[in-house]
Order: sequence, then structure tokens, then C-alpha cells
Amino acid sequence: MSKFNRKFYEEYLKSEKWKEKRKEIYILRNKKCEICKCKLYGHYHIHHKTYKRLGEERNSDLILLCEKCHINIHKEIKQKNNKKIKDLKFYSCPFCLNKININKFLNTGKIRCPFCNSFINRLDMIKQIEISKKR
Ligand SMILES: [Zn+2]
Ligand SMILES: [Zn+2]
Ligand SMILES: [Zn+2]
Repeated sequence: MSKFNRKFYEEYLKSEKWKEKRKEIYILRNKKCEICKCKLYGHYHIHHKTYKRLGEERNSDLILLCEKCHINIHKEIKQKNNKKIKDLKFYSCPFCLNKININKFLNTGKIRCPFCNSFINRLDMIKQIEISKKR
């Protein structure tokens, strides 16, 4: 998600281009949820497997889902991300560089550095964890 930009993302979801893309995927995947195979009758969700090509998605970046499966997929992603955070145990605050024990923040939406009181974005944290693992 290196190029991920929330503002761009929100604008893009409102665009004609995305509406066309959604419809295209809906028809290509036979109007059925790709996980539970239920028929979608015009009410459907498109999930991004990756945001790397946001705005220029390949069809393989997208999955057609019913609402229930879409919620589940995001729950699973959240659990996986929590596991990544748990494995790390300590994270250095990007603002003050103090080491924070993040286990106690796992189930809270907001993570706040106890040293400098800055809010830390979960996604930024996960990104940094992934970068540090590759080194
Ligand atoms: Zn489904
Ligand atoms: Zn999704
Ligand atoms: Zn801090």
C-alpha cells in the first residue's frame, strides 16, 4: 500500500471509473459472491485484495462479495494484523522513538503513545512492521 492515500481513495470510490469497474467485475464473476457463491441480485461489494494499483486495478486485484463475506474478510484481515502486532511486542513511536508495549492496545481502535501522547495510525504501524521484517 505504498501509494495509498486516503483522500484519493475516497474520491476514487465516488468516481464513474470505479462505478464502471464495479459493474464490470459484477458481470464477469457471474453475479455471485466468490466466497459463499450466493446470488447477488444487484446488491454487491467489491473487495480490493491490494491497493497497489488503486485507480488502475487489474481484475485479479478485485473480488466480488456479498455483504456478509465482505465483513468476514475484513475481520480476518484485522485478526492477521493484530497477530503481526502481537508478534512484534514492542514498537518504537514514530514521533518520540520511545519503545511502546503495544499488546495492551490490541483491542482498542486508537493507539496512543504513552510517552508523547501522539496518536499512532494502525496501518502505518503495520506497514512499518512489514518493512522492518524485510530487512
Ligand atoms: Zn458471500
Ligand atoms: Zn474490502
Ligand atoms: Zn511517542
